[in-house]
Amino acid sequence: MNNSGQVLGIDGLKDKSYLARCQKTLRSWGAPFSGWTCKEIYDVRDDDWNAPLHACELCGCTKVRYVHVMTHPDYFEDVSVGCICAGIMEGDILAAKDRERLMRNRSKRKRSFPKRKWTRTTNGWSLTYHGEQILIGRSRHNPERLGVKYNGQCVWTYKGKPITDFLSAAYAAFNLADPVPEAKP
Ligand SMILES: [Zn+2]
Repeated sequence: MNNSGQVLGIDGLKDKSYLARCQKTLRSWGAPFSGWTCKEIYDVRDDDWNAPLHACELCGCTKVRYVHVMTHPDYFEDVSVGCICAGIMEGDILAAKDRERLMRNRSKRKRSFPKRKWTRTTNGWSLTYHGEQILIGRSRHNPERLGVKYNGQCVWTYKGKPITDFLSAAYAAFNLADPVPEAKP
């Protein structure tokens, strides 16, 4: 398939004691060593530089910014881990690194999204992104609330909260226009 197949697995991992520690933890949980897949990846700091970092549930590293949520058909719980632990669990370090790189690039785009050249409209803002128009506007029923329209979809909340400021509206717009890439099966 791929000529880097030799290093795609976990054999290329230099720190064998780290690998052994992770496997020991999995064993203590009665969890499988391999065959995990990533069902979701998220950036705990995608819109907030000061958000606390995540602690990897497998190795305990407390500086995880990009959280890989790993799932296994034979294990009842998902496990939220950092990049290398995700690679160990799915047996493919490079795939995990690749996923994290895509996420990191998306986070950069998200950060700069509110600073794009938004145009003022009569009741909000508009922006053309990748050829599609995005509209942010005030609700005519409740002027405190902002909504975002993109590609026929309309949203009024961001991260479960009503949108009341431009920044949240722009981030909500970004999530519509530039969604997190689907995790590979
Ligand atoms: Zn870890």
